[in-house]
Amino acid sequence: MLVLVLILVVSDFLVILIVLDLVFADYFQFHRIYGDDLEVRTALRAGDDRAFIDLVFVDIKVRLAFRTVHHDFLHVQVTLLYLVSSRGKGQVANQENSRFLSASRPDKLSVPLRMALTAALALFLCSALCLTQESLAQERLAPGNTAEAAPALASNPHADPRIAEVIRQVSPDRIRETIEKLVSFNNRSTISAQDEDAIKAGRGIGAAREWIKSEFDRYSKDCGGCLEVKIDTFTEQPADRIPKPTEITNIYAVLKGSDPKQADRIVLVTGHYDSRNSDTLNGTDPAPGANDDGSGTAVSLECSRVLSQAVKKTKFPATIIFLTVAGEEQGLNGSRHFAQMAKQQGWKIEAVLNNDIVGGNLGPGQDSGRVRVFSEGVPVIASDAELKRIRMLGGESDSSSRELARYIADIGRSYDAGVKPLLIFRLDRFLRGGDHSSFNQQGFAAVRFTEFREDFNHQHQTPRTENGVEYGDLLKFVDFDYVAHVARLNAATLAALATAPAAPSNVKIVTKGLDNDSTLHWEPSVGAADYEVIWRSTNAPDWEYVQPVGNAMRATLHVSKDNVIFAVRAVDAAGHRSLPVVPEPER
Ligand SMILES: [Zn+2]
Repeated sequence: MLVLVLILVVSDFLVILIVLDLVFADYFQFHRIYGDDLEVRTALRAGDDRAFIDLVFVDIKVRLAFRTVHHDFLHVQVTLLYLVSSRGKGQVANQENSRFLSASRPDKLSVPLRMALTAALALFLCSALCLTQESLAQERLAPGNTAEAAPALASNPHADPRIAEVIRQVSPDRIRETIEKLVSFNNRSTISAQDEDAIKAGRGIGAAREWIKSEFDRYSKDCGGCLEVKIDTFTEQPADRIPKPTEITNIYAVLKGSDPKQADRIVLVTGHYDSRNSDTLNGTDPAPGANDDGSGTAVSLECSRVLSQAVKKTKFPATIIFLTVAGEEQGLNGSRHFAQMAKQQGWKIEAVLNNDIVGGNLGPGQDSGRVRVFSEGVPVIASDAELKRIRMLGGESDSSSRELARYIADIGRSYDAGVKPLLIFRLDRFLRGGDHSSFNQQGFAAVRFTEFREDFNHQHQTPRTENGVEYGDLLKFVDFDYVAHVARLNAATLAALATAPAAPSNVKIVTKGLDNDSTLHWEPSVGAADYEVIWRSTNAPDWEYVQPVGNAMRATLHVSKDNVIFAVRAVDAAGHRSLPVVPEPER
């Protein structure tokens, strides 16, 4: 199609444009370039038949589709200088001019001289045209005409130096001490001992529970009582993995938001402090659980330590909860109870970061530069009406948990945590589950962090050596620097979310008529100074473009809603971004 159009336009340029077609189309992998997308016209022609030179300036206006299915926002207008020795016509001219030349100016140097003069003229004209192009570009960027400009990339980083400073306080040594202490309780199975004697002896889940509580209390003392340390205790009735009625206790610390208008917004980090060995019903033999999930418990504790210390210098308008749960290995009992309680009490939990097996197991194939972030696609609680809309609009990858995962990817680009999130677009690994799903069940956005490569000989195994293979979730397999990096990524995410404005509410996209523009509107967020519309191609995993729209509650973009997925996010005066909200269609 491209070549056909070119033949029609100007056959003289066939060769050069075929080259353009082959080279550029191959390099950029254009998709769906139609005749309408390409416009070629001669802008200026200058020639010197005696020097056998044609100079042609060609304006080519292309609306390109760079790996995307819509063409509206990428306009390229270029001027090509076409320089050719006109051999065919030139033969005649040459002969004619030869006679002319020999009669008037026999000097053979005149031909190169003319070529040089013509080239100089070309440079002059070209620079003039380039300036024209620049002024055209300026015009396109002028206020009021911003929709015509290529939008900024949504992947541009935006870090808050105070948050960067906070996450630097995360200490691999403190994390090592925490995990060592947790391992010292020998067996932290939910069905292990929790009576007074066991607690005094430092054995069993009861002793672990008391120690975790004392750590939260200590951090709170260090920040002038800024943490409210609480327990959530309940009795689980007998089930598959719970032989008799068992008391289960979740321990958590609340760092209340500094803004009364936003303190009801909650972001939460969790890990499970219970452990297991090869037998889920064994509460006595060693079950060190250094990685599963001493590492996740250490992330929650370390986040609470550094973020509670940070309130001396900075403020978090929203509330942060640092949670450690039990009962995970028996069937997610602790997290289920906690999430149900949160739902029943109307807590506004905006994000749950579940860290489970983030020890960076030291072994072959591990990638210590990456941590997996699992998130559900279609929400488990979606109603029939919601499922219908998801099917209609292609919303399979836009659950609130998925948006949270993308937010973490953004944090990974903006802060140097030492580890990069690798988004996995599925709820969890094969054959496995985790506490984040308890929160998903109650409609909360929740994701799971897990090391890049797990060693299943070092999880859920009674420590032993068989045929030269060492089994067991032992301290020596944990990479404490890696856990610290994951803790930094968590702390940065919590701090960014707790500092950012609330996400815009009631976000709608107008679908009243057939229209290739897109109009969105929303209601104001507490703490917001401005808003941004972001979007991506329907087949792109992460947000691609961003259009700041000031403090408007409505925006129209010259981008077709049929071809992209939009979202709106709030931005405060310091540039903190809220979670994005995908609009619902409004008829
Ligand atoms: Zn686990």
